[in-house]
Amino acid sequence: MAPASSECVRVVVRCRPLNSKETAEGRQKIVDVDSQHAGITLRGGDTGDAPKTFTFDATFDCGSRQRDVYEDAAAGIVNSVLAGYNGTIFAYGQTGTGKTHTMEGVAGDTELQGIIPNSFEHIFNAIQGSANKQYLVRASFLEIYNEEIRDLLSKSPKDKLELREHKDSGVYVKGLNAFVVKSVAEMRNVLEVGKKNRSVGATLMNQDSSRSHSVFSITVECVEQGPAADGHIRVGKLNLVDLAGSERQSKTGATGDRLKEATKINLSLSALGNVISALVDGKSGHVPYRDSKLTRLLQDSLGGNTKTVMVANVGPADWNFDETLSTLRYAHRAKAI
Ligand code: ADP
Ligand code: MG
Repeated sequence: MAPASSECVRVVVRCRPLNSKETAEGRQKIVDVDSQHAGITLRGGDTGDAPKTFTFDATFDCGSRQRDVYEDAAAGIVNSVLAGYNGTIFAYGQTGTGKTHTMEGVAGDTELQGIIPNSFEHIFNAIQGSANKQYLVRASFLEIYNEEIRDLLSKSPKDKLELREHKDSGVYVKGLNAFVVKSVAEMRNVLEVGKKNRSVGATLMNQDSSRSHSVFSITVECVEQGPAADGHIRVGKLNLVDLAGSERQSKTGATGDRLKEATKINLSLSALGNVISALVDGKSGHVPYRDSKLTRLLQDSLGGNTKTVMVANVGPADWNFDETLSTLRYAHRAKAI
């Protein structure tokens, strides 16, 4: 598969508001967002370093609305999925910076719902508004924990599933449920079931869900009807990925199993960064998809004719200086030079 041109990868940064704890503790806000110029500036905190400014495809300040983020970061990808292309949206960042808020938000609240529920409405509105086409929509939901894949829609979500490759249909997860979904309400139900399984599974297995990647995938098949139809089926796939927290675990003093987990998270996030930068760079023929489960799984949705958006989330407060800088660097590396 040919590497994507850089227009196919967009990187945006969102900064959440100071939370009540940070305000109560008198934390300083050290992040300034210039959304008009897609810039973001990180001040040196108490280290006295000169402020560092980064530019992205878009930046969102603490007052940004879910709808604005959707329109900028997601709507274009969802349209191309409806037209039969694949696309992926990632939420990246330290735990507590708003990845899940950005992806899921508050279920059932029109103002506060995130990219995933907004995409449900977008998809079914488009389907209802199109004559002479017949659609089939399916949803699946999995998590990758410790480089192990689990089906969040399974009756036995503790089972580990394997990645397989088919010479025609590409990489797939053997045994993964994919449910046919006919409405926004059914989609919401699938999301809720998966979320519940995720937290129950995490408790049963003594896991922390901030350490796993979750991937909600929507496949849209479309066939034209009527006299001009050629019977050709278009298939587009949308992957909505809430990544594991990017914080470095050395800081948290992790040992034993926790440290092993942490190493795997760091490996898979850096593998993702390497794949995206190889795609953006476009010159190197080799894209290292095989270096992690996540990048292998998403291989057919990263590069080629696909669109990718990375939403990097940061917190505004001084105590996060190191993590915020590391997120901005990671995100910047994923952006076209
Ligand atoms: P993460 O998934 O990255 O660990 P969360 O999405 O759970 O972080 O966000 C942590 C907390 O901050 C949650 O209580 C969430 O509601 C709040 N939050 C995150 N982003 C925003 C935002 N843009 N506006 C308001 N609250 C936010
Ligand atoms: Mg989260």
